[in-house]
Amino acid sequence: MNDLTRCPLCHHQYGGRKVFQGYRIASGDFRIKCGVCGDFDVSEEAIEDYLESAHETRLTPIRRALLSHLVRVAQTPGSHEFPMVKRDMIERVISGSVSAPSASAQAAEALRIIGVESKASGDPIQHLPEHFYAAIGAANPDSAARLVGDLIARGLLRGLDASSMSGRAYINVEPTLTGWEAIAEHLAPKPMAPAIIVMKFNDPELDAFVDDVVKPAAADAGFLVERVCESPRAGQIEVAMKQKLAAAPFVIAELTHQNSGAYWEAGYADGKDVPVIYMCRQAEWEANGGTHFDTSHHETIVWRADDPDAFRQRLLAVLKNSVKPRRR
Ligand SMILES: [Zn+2]
Repeated sequence: MNDLTRCPLCHHQYGGRKVFQGYRIASGDFRIKCGVCGDFDVSEEAIEDYLESAHETRLTPIRRALLSHLVRVAQTPGSHEFPMVKRDMIERVISGSVSAPSASAQAAEALRIIGVESKASGDPIQHLPEHFYAAIGAANPDSAARLVGDLIARGLLRGLDASSMSGRAYINVEPTLTGWEAIAEHLAPKPMAPAIIVMKFNDPELDAFVDDVVKPAAADAGFLVERVCESPRAGQIEVAMKQKLAAAPFVIAELTHQNSGAYWEAGYADGKDVPVIYMCRQAEWEANGGTHFDTSHHETIVWRADDPDAFRQRLLAVLKNSVKPRRR
C-alpha cells in the first residue's frame, strides 16, 4: 500500500475528492490532502485496523464526520505541522468520549466563518465550500445547510434558498448588519498570534491529548495553539521563540516530564505578562506530590487521557476567566 485512492477519514462521503492526495511519507505514515478534512498525517495502523478495515462497522458516517471536524480544527494555518490521526483518537470517537459541538456552537462558528470569508472577498459567498460542514462540526452538508437556513430565518444571515430534491443549499450568503453585530459581540476575534504550548515531545499519549483535546478545546474558545518544536536551554533561546512567547495570548506549560525548557519558557512568558496555564498528567502529578516548581499561584490543570471532558471544561473556564484576546 503506497498510494491511497480515497481519504481514509471521510471516505469522500460528502465531497473532497477534487483536491485529494494520499501518499506514504518517510516515517511510514501517510500524508493526506483532502478537500473536506484538510491536510493531515495518519498512521498505517489506524488505516488498516480501523479506517479501511472491512470489519470496522462502528465508524458510522456521523463518526467519520466528527473525525473530519477534529482534524479540520486541529490545523494551524500556514504551519508545516500537520495533525496526526492515530488509533487513540479514533477510539475516543468510537467510545463517545469526544462529541460533536452543540448546535448553538455550530451556528456560532457558521456565522463566524461566513463573516470571515465574505469580509475577505467583499462579496457574498456564492456556494458554501465542501469543507463547511466539517469546519463547523455538523453531521453532514445537509445538516450544515439547515443551520444556515435557521440563521437566515433569524435575520443573522442573508442568502438565497437553492435547495433541490437532492438536498438543502444556499447561495450568495453573507451576514446581515444584525449578523455582523452578533459576530462582534459574541465571538472573540481570532487572535492574530497563536497561543503556545511548551512540552516534551515523543510521549504518544501526551501528543495525542494535545492534538485531540487541547487544540480543539482552545479552538472552541477562539484560539489557535501552536506547539513549540524544540525546547532550547536557557541562554540559547532564540529571538523568534521569545517573540512568539511574548506575542501569544497565553502559554500552556506541560509539566508532566518536568521539562526544564518548559519551565524556562513559562517563566519568560510570565515575565512578559502573558498568562501561563500549567498542565500535568495525573499519574506524574500524584507521584511527584505536585510539581517541584513553585506554580502555586498559577492555574494547574491535572489531566487524564481517559477523561478529556474534565480537562476541556477546566481549560475553557480558565481561558474565560484569565485570558483576553490580544492583538499584536
Ligand atoms: Zn477527508
